[in-house]
Amino acid sequence: MLNFKNKDLCIEQVKLSDIAREYGTSTYIYSKKQFINNFENYKKVLGAKDIVCFACKANSNRTILKLLADIGAGADTTSGGEIYRCLKVNFNPSKIVYAGVGKTSEEIEYALKNKILMFNVESLEELDAIDKIAGRVKIKAKIAFRINPHVDPDTHSYIATGKKGTKFGIPYEDAVMAYLIAKKKKNVVVFGIHSHIGSQILDIGLFKIAAKKIKKIVDDLEKNGIGLEYINCGGGLGIEYTKDQKAPSPEQLISELFLVFGKDKKFIFEPGRSIAANAGYLLAKVIYRKLSDKKNFLITDAGMNDLMRPTLYGAYHEIIPIKKINAKKVKTDVVGPICESGDFIGRDRMLPVLAQGEYVLITCAGAYGAAMSSEYNSRPLLAEVLVDGRKTALIRKRAKWEDLLLNEE
Ligand SMILES: *Cc1c(COP(=O)(O)O)cnc(C)c1O
Repeated sequence: MLNFKNKDLCIEQVKLSDIAREYGTSTYIYSKKQFINNFENYKKVLGAKDIVCFACKANSNRTILKLLADIGAGADTTSGGEIYRCLKVNFNPSKIVYAGVGKTSEEIEYALKNKILMFNVESLEELDAIDKIAGRVKIKAKIAFRINPHVDPDTHSYIATGKKGTKFGIPYEDAVMAYLIAKKKKNVVVFGIHSHIGSQILDIGLFKIAAKKIKKIVDDLEKNGIGLEYINCGGGLGIEYTKDQKAPSPEQLISELFLVFGKDKKFIFEPGRSIAANAGYLLAKVIYRKLSDKKNFLITDAGMNDLMRPTLYGAYHEIIPIKKINAKKVKTDVVGPICESGDFIGRDRMLPVLAQGEYVLITCAGAYGAAMSSEYNSRPLLAEVLVDGRKTALIRKRAKWEDLLLNEE
């Protein structure tokens, strides 16, 4: 939804310079249209019985969640806090699934009492805990096991989850045994199967390898008299952070998976990044420039506490000036104000020489951007703005210095 109007870079129909003036910087900005398009790209290729559960850890701003709930999304949650957020914006609880290796009894009880669709169970001890709590509150728990299919998803190791040796899921060799144990539990209903192999995956072949392993388990379970209602294929579809990357569409992914499983089952998909990433941006101002050892630095008011991905994963985000200028391009490191050498947004970028007070836009920051931000260096959390056509709305107030002390004695 980025476009130039004359020399001004715009999101939908709003000039970024206007947003900077009205809301200050640095600021997260989202395109409503892009969120809706991205969601519809999944929805249009799925049946009415299937559910697109937005992985709300990617972006848990309540207005964004409400926007998705209102157009029929379900939610993939990883904590009681996320379930709380989702219920507050009226997600249908029967479209909420709950994964995570460390669900506490408080969280399990909360999820049960609010009648979520399904727990994605990651260990036999968790199964025991869910069974006990379900018995105590007298609500049957619907479960899927999260199966680790031991597929190396060719992504950053921190976001590879379906590989041997990660903490996630039940090893696929143990899957049938786990279901046989679950079948005997009094307060648990075996309801589905789940796998999520990692994030920012650009090769559909890897999803297919995982799917075939899951299909084999589904078949083995049927032979054992265990039928499942839902197949949950997880999330993980990558997006194009750079122009050289080529991301498959949801349609391509889903049609390949239908070939493996057949269409007659009920499916759940849990996209996070592929719904939120390219719908969000981070707008930052150049505070200072400096030349140090022949290296050009642009020091911006956005730092690693605001956008952690470059520092955490070595992730690449495009950085573009918000005014079209014909100035000479020089190799530049774009860095934040934090006292860490790892505090950078982008390194060795060819950028036009910008002046103090000019702005840059960091693209594809809608997933794992604001959601991962912190107050490190006592920097208050940023403002978030939603663009809808010509209109803008402040969907999170910029925090103040006073807010830093809110819960401290
Ligand atoms: C994070 C996560 C997702 C979403 O992954 P994306 O790469 O953002 O699509 C889906 N399912 C589970 C269980 C997750 O932990």
